[in-house]
Amino acid sequence: MSQQHIAVIGAGIVGVSAALHLQRDGNRVTLIDERNPGEGTSKGNAAVLAIDSCAPVATPGVLWDVPKYLRDPLGPLAIRWAYLPKIAPWLMRFIAASKPERVEEISIALRAILLRATDVHRDLARTINETSILKETGWLGVFESDKKFESYQWDLALQKRRGVPFEVMAQEQIRQFEPSLQPIFRHAVYYPENSYVLDNFRLVREAARVFAENGGTIAKQRVTGFDFGPKGPSAVKTETGRIACDGVVVAAGAWSKKLTAMLGHKVPLDTERGYHVTLPNAQKMPRMPLYSGDHSFAVTPLEVGLRFAGTVELGGLEAPPNYDRAELLLKHGRRMFGPMNEEGRSNWMGFRPSMPDSLPVISQGRRYANTWFAYGHGHLGLTLGPVTGKLVADMVAGRESGLDLKPFAIDRF
Ligand SMILES: Cc1cc2nc3c(=O)[nH]c(=O)nc-3n(C[C@H](O)[C@H](O)[C@H](O)COP(=O)(O)OP(=O)(O)OC[C@H]3O[C@@H](n4cnc5c(N)ncnc54)[C@H](O)[C@@H]3O)c2cc1C
Repeated sequence: MSQQHIAVIGAGIVGVSAALHLQRDGNRVTLIDERNPGEGTSKGNAAVLAIDSCAPVATPGVLWDVPKYLRDPLGPLAIRWAYLPKIAPWLMRFIAASKPERVEEISIALRAILLRATDVHRDLARTINETSILKETGWLGVFESDKKFESYQWDLALQKRRGVPFEVMAQEQIRQFEPSLQPIFRHAVYYPENSYVLDNFRLVREAARVFAENGGTIAKQRVTGFDFGPKGPSAVKTETGRIACDGVVVAAGAWSKKLTAMLGHKVPLDTERGYHVTLPNAQKMPRMPLYSGDHSFAVTPLEVGLRFAGTVELGGLEAPPNYDRAELLLKHGRRMFGPMNEEGRSNWMGFRPSMPDSLPVISQGRRYANTWFAYGHGHLGLTLGPVTGKLVADMVAGRESGLDLKPFAIDRF
């Protein structure tokens, strides 16, 4: 295989994974990020490999929920009024993706890629020489409200059609299974395929360290544009200079839209902002990650503490965080576990890179054959980052991956 110099833009879980796989194929790779590796959205997620999550965010009936999203700024899904005109075209596509037949197609595509995710995470854990960072515990969804559990039957039916294994638990089993919980939950569903990583930020930092140790270059620079030769981009322009290359991978998460436009494609990428609260010494630690079915957030027992993470806020990349949303996560957390030690708590907000159909873009460019795009993983970026990296390397090498990549094409809209 002829060695190429590939510039990967973005050192989150997706870009670092792509860089490692491209390097493994014998390419010379420069990983470019204006921040240190992992300091974007990959820094503060819930650290869960949500292999069960084959339903898109937009599900049938979502259209009727939009007024509620606008009314309640602290609801599990909220739209900021000021951002409504900007996000309206994305919302129209989001609603279009909620049609039952489209939901089936999306879930089939998601399930196919999700089924490959754990193996590539195991491989990543071996690559960084830390197999114990991946905890294959499964995860437990818990419900206090009968009504919420009733509406969750739709999700369970979809998961059943996609072959997702799960076990529904009776009320009396729940605390035996997860003793850290208060006795308030009436329903639970256990997903054995799911797992989590002990520290999602450290995972990316370690992966970047191994990449650099193996001869990869990390350039801490902000990308501003490209130079073009006869075949496409020939250099990445940054605030401080140019990096000549044979090909470009855009893996800049929620910030990929402008870079993509410069390379000839218009994509409906936006952001679903999410929040977390981490308690470094909560003194309550579940033995596996949990999901609150009542309030749509995750709780993960990380090595850096107990993390409550989730919620969706459609508010763009510029608006300041609304940490009342994080406060609410903690309030729900107190109800789940009772009093906790909250000393040293930290709040965080991150920008999920989200396509309206909840499918990532994993695609070669149509305009220039030496461009590849890998972003838009929404709620599943940690889960799918490593497998996406592998697929990027397959595309660059012209190697058949065995996965149908049409649902992830850049020009599908
Ligand atoms: C609250 C919350 C909880 C979540 N929980 C989970 C979970 O449990 N499981 C899961 O699978 N996913 C989860 N996610 C989603 C996941 O975190 C994201 O999908 C994932 O981190 C995206 O990774 P990325 O590499 O695409 O982007 P990022 O990690 O954001 O990396 C993109 C990088 O590109 C860089 N960049 C951008 N523009 C430029 C430029 N012009 N020049 C140079 N560099 C640039 C940025 O600095 C950044 O470092 C969660 C997200 C949130 C917000």
